[in-house]
Amino acid sequence: MQFINISHPEQKVTFPQAVVTGLGKGQGLFFPEQLEPFGDIQALLDLDFVSRSQVILQYLVGDSMEADVLNACVEQAFDFPLELKKVSGQVNALELFHGPSLAFKDFGARFMAQCLASFSTDQKITILTATSGDTGAAVALAFYNQPGIDVVVLYPKGKVTPLQEKLFCTLGGNIRTIAIEDDFDACQTLVKQSFDDAQLVEAVGLNSANSINVARLLAQVCYYFEAVARLPADTKAVFSVPSGNFGNVTAGLVAYALGLPMKRIIAATNRNDTVPRFLDSGKWEPRPTVATLTNAMDISLPNNFPRVLELEDRHGVPLQELLTSFAISDEETQGAVRALDAEGYLADPHSALAWKALTDGLEEDETGVFLCTAHPAKFIETLEDTLKRTIALPPALEQASAKQILSTEMPADFDLLKKYLLEKQKN
Ligand SMILES: *Cc1c(COP(=O)(O)O)cnc(C)c1O
Repeated sequence: MQFINISHPEQKVTFPQAVVTGLGKGQGLFFPEQLEPFGDIQALLDLDFVSRSQVILQYLVGDSMEADVLNACVEQAFDFPLELKKVSGQVNALELFHGPSLAFKDFGARFMAQCLASFSTDQKITILTATSGDTGAAVALAFYNQPGIDVVVLYPKGKVTPLQEKLFCTLGGNIRTIAIEDDFDACQTLVKQSFDDAQLVEAVGLNSANSINVARLLAQVCYYFEAVARLPADTKAVFSVPSGNFGNVTAGLVAYALGLPMKRIIAATNRNDTVPRFLDSGKWEPRPTVATLTNAMDISLPNNFPRVLELEDRHGVPLQELLTSFAISDEETQGAVRALDAEGYLADPHSALAWKALTDGLEEDETGVFLCTAHPAKFIETLEDTLKRTIALPPALEQASAKQILSTEMPADFDLLKKYLLEKQKN
């Protein structure tokens, strides 16, 4: 399998090249050149999660990785459970938050970390990533103590929850964290500027672990298959995905292109609703990012969206039929948290938002799956405030919350960041 740069289709690379370079020429995103549906979907669905994921990922990466190397990467990356829980009659929760950072981003970050370690060369690499909260923890924990790899995480100061910050800013060692005095989009811009600086890329062996890295995207395709495998046979589910950068939705659409039976996909956003407005009007009109209760989705420039369009343009995915997108307000999200709690299900605000978008339009004969992207305790302040009761912390968060934040603070200034990265390299 070749991966093409969707901004410059003449640039074609292998999977390892796409993973190592992160972004292509002109900041273009890499994407598989071909997506053929699997012939025997049922046989695939009959496999266990790890074995099936190995088959899917082997197809996607092609012969650029030896089977035994890839299989080991998948086994080590996907070493934690996922759950499909029935919440009410037709509605199921796909819980993707049982990994080390308690968010679905563990799937992508851990697979990417394993791949990078398996391609390891002599040169030290620097993973530079921007986070609106959960990527930072997933990436930092996936790469923590990996030899030859430094991690630098940028996050918007004061815009991630205290517990999120504790999870990734307290590790030390090869993990450095910088609180940027601006919003997430500014952090993402700094990452892109860094990749545009050829001298910097070379000097520090720059790599991105953002959802723009294709390894993360491919890993996420696997849990859509697992959800379908666990539903009663021949169910064509409606998936609802809480969306920020639109990597998760893209993975669902890739699963569809690979032949996974599904009815449709809902991309649920918060008030940062660039995509729902785009799908309505055909106009791409980002507005300034606003802070919401679902902070991991406070993104008005969703950087995976070109891949969604690529799926339609080059791979024939019928977006019109398959994809809808709705914006949900904070009040509706809180209402959803309360409604789910009343049904005996505690959901974090992101997952509750997806439930709201799902149940608003679910037809009587449809089965719905909403993706639960974070453990509820990660958003304990919002949940306690919404539900007016105390919520217990899981042990991983209990431990992290006692540790000290080790972050550096910095204005959103590329020259300062560059200086920081070059100086780090000397140590
Ligand atoms: C990152 C994140 C999202 C958004 O996922 P995208 O792939 O960026 O659309 C949703 N919920 C949580 C909890 C997240 O951490």
